[in-house]
Amino acid sequence: MSAQFENTVIVGTGCAGLTAAIYTGRANLSPLVLEGILPGGQLTTTSEVENFPGFPEGVDGFQLMQNLRKQAKKFGTRYESGSVTGLDVSQWPYTVKLTDREIRAKTIIIATGASPRLTGVPGEKELYGGKGVTTCATCDGAFYRSMDVVVIGGGDSAAEEALFLTRFASKIYLVHRRDSLRASKIMADRALAHPKIKPVWDSVPVSVEGVKEGAVSGLKVKNLKTGAESIIAAKGIFVAIGHVPNTAPFKGVVDTNDQGYFVATGLSQVKTKTPGVYVAGDCADHVYRQAVTAAGMGCAAAIEAERWLAEHGG
Ligand code: NAP
Repeated sequence: MSAQFENTVIVGTGCAGLTAAIYTGRANLSPLVLEGILPGGQLTTTSEVENFPGFPEGVDGFQLMQNLRKQAKKFGTRYESGSVTGLDVSQWPYTVKLTDREIRAKTIIIATGASPRLTGVPGEKELYGGKGVTTCATCDGAFYRSMDVVVIGGGDSAAEEALFLTRFASKIYLVHRRDSLRASKIMADRALAHPKIKPVWDSVPVSVEGVKEGAVSGLKVKNLKTGAESIIAAKGIFVAIGHVPNTAPFKGVVDTNDQGYFVATGLSQVKTKTPGVYVAGDCADHVYRQAVTAAGMGCAAAIEAERWLAEHGG
C-alpha cells in the first residue's frame, strides 16, 4: 500500500480544528481533517451558544459547527474519519498513526479537545449511558420529563445543564462541593433564581444508587460540613464537573503539564518543541476554554503551519 502524504493533517473537528482548516484551506494547503467519534466537538452537545461573537441572538451549537465544517470544505478541506493512536516525529514528513492506517504529514495541528470528567464514585460507571448517568443534558434531558434529576458541579457547564433541564424535569438538585457556584455571575444568578433548581451546597457524591435494579434511583451525598450522608431520590444524574484533555495518543511526543494539557513552547500558545507540530483549543488551554479562544488558537496554529511550510519545503 502506498503511503498517503499530506501538507497538513488536522486532528479534531471542534472550533480549533475547523478554524485551522478554514485558514490552511484558504492558504491552498488542502488540509486533511481527521474526525473522531464526536465530530464537531463539545459545542455539538451544547444548546444555545450566547457568547460567540457575531451572533447577537445566540446560535445553536450544532448549527455553528455545521457552518464551520461547510466553510472549511468550501476552501478545500477534506474529511476522513479515523482514530489517532500515536504520532512519530523521528522522521519528516511525520507519521500520524491511526487504528487502521498511517498518514505522513508535513505539518500537524492537534486539536483533540477535552472530554467530560466523571466523579469515579461507585455506581457511576455501571449506570452510565442509557441507565441514568450522563454528561449531556442536551442529548438526554428529554428522557427525564416530569422526573427529579441531579446535576453535579458548580461551573458554567453545571449551571447550563441545570437550566436546560428545567424544560423537562420536575426538580433539579444542583449538588456542589462548596457553598457558591464557580459559574459566571449571569449563569449562576439565572440558575439559582429558577424555581425548579434546588442547590445542595457543600456536598459531594458518595455513590450512585440503583446498580442492582439496573437504573438510577438516586445519588447518595455527603455534607462536607456536617459529615451527614443522605440519598437524593432521582432518575437521572448529570455529571458536569469539568473536562479531561484528550492528549493521551501524543504522550511523550508533545509535552503536557501535570493535568495532561499540552504545553506550548516559548511565547507561542500553539508551537510545540517539534517544528511543524502545533496544538490548539481545549487540549492545550486549561485557562480560557471558550469556543472563541479555541477558534483563535486554531487560526494561530494554521498561520504558523503555513509559514513553516513556506520556509521548509511546502
Ligand atoms: P469548571 O469551570 O472547571 O467547573 C467544574 C466544576 O465541577 C467546579 O464547580 C468544581 O468545583 C466541580 N468539580 C470538579 N471536580 C469535582 C469532583 N471530583 N467532584 C465534585 N465536583 C467537582 O468546568 P465547566 O463548568 O465544564 O466549564 C469549563 C469552561 O467552559 C469554563 O471556562 C466555563 O466558563 C466554560 N463554559 C462556558 C459556558 C457558557 O458560557 N455558556 C458553558 C459551559 C462552559 P469547584 O468550584 O469547587 O472547583
